[in-house]
Amino acid sequence: MTDRHDHHDHNDSHRHEKPGMDLVSHHGDDDVCLNQVSFAYDGQFVVENVTLHAPHGTTLGIIGPNGSGKTTLLKLMLGLLRPNAGTITVLGMSPAQACARGDLVGYLPQRHELDWSFPISARQVVELGLVGRRGLLGRPSAADRRQAADQLAAVGLADQADVPIGELSGGQQQRVFLARALVSRPRVLFLDEPTTGVDVGAQENLQELLALVKEQLALTLIVVSHNLRAITSTCDQIACLNRTVHYHDKPSGLSREMLSRVFNCDVEYMLDPHGHERH
Ligand code: ADP
Repeated sequence: MTDRHDHHDHNDSHRHEKPGMDLVSHHGDDDVCLNQVSFAYDGQFVVENVTLHAPHGTTLGIIGPNGSGKTTLLKLMLGLLRPNAGTITVLGMSPAQACARGDLVGYLPQRHELDWSFPISARQVVELGLVGRRGLLGRPSAADRRQAADQLAAVGLADQADVPIGELSGGQQQRVFLARALVSRPRVLFLDEPTTGVDVGAQENLQELLALVKEQLALTLIVVSHNLRAITSTCDQIACLNRTVHYHDKPSGLSREMLSRVFNCDVEYMLDPHGHERH
């Protein structure tokens, strides 16, 4: 994977500005802020001129079809890739600095990125969420173990603490990984396609849980998804991504026309099944 970091564009990013792209106002309390961000794999730009912001305590949904750059953008926000141009701040720091702190940023990866055959218990998975804080070689302290157990209880899995992760249901596994992402008490939580690969009941359960922890921990959530239906009901703001951002505002302002234009496909399946279409 390419991880280039060209500095030459940083000081003249104004050259990338497009008329009409400054509709999104910047607020001082943004927890996550991307300004004119571009990224290329081996010279091929897959993210161009992306400006996004997520104010503290809000949920930003980033939606786009496959190949639109969602995962790349997430990796940029997590500091795993660096932009070729533009700037990204997470809690006022670079993404790498924010993630290195170990207790500011949580991440729920996509299910297919996880190894379900790994022979560890649910509680041990959650303890891994504290590795960033105590270091990879440090053993979990009694306090760490208690914190992990409490976090498992908070996602409703106190009784499953010693069950191997591979033996849990899809929805339970996802809650274990949510507990892992939350155990360090982060302020920003990134979720990659959280509704993919679990049944509808588990999806609803997760949405309720997320709403609860968001409130309890005053979290800022960044949710990446290709499922518009799952995202519109829970997000304060939606960003429509297809290489660049085509819309960044409240879900209620999304029109079918804009969606078809941005995604260049039939958007019926992405819209509300009860006919609450957005014009
Ligand atoms: P999404 O998550 O929306 O499906 P991605 O960010 O995974 O989109 O991919 C955006 C584009 O970047 C796609 O065209 C994809 O083929 C390309 N891409 C993704 N990862 C790499 C990589 N490691 N090397 C080269 N191209 C990549």
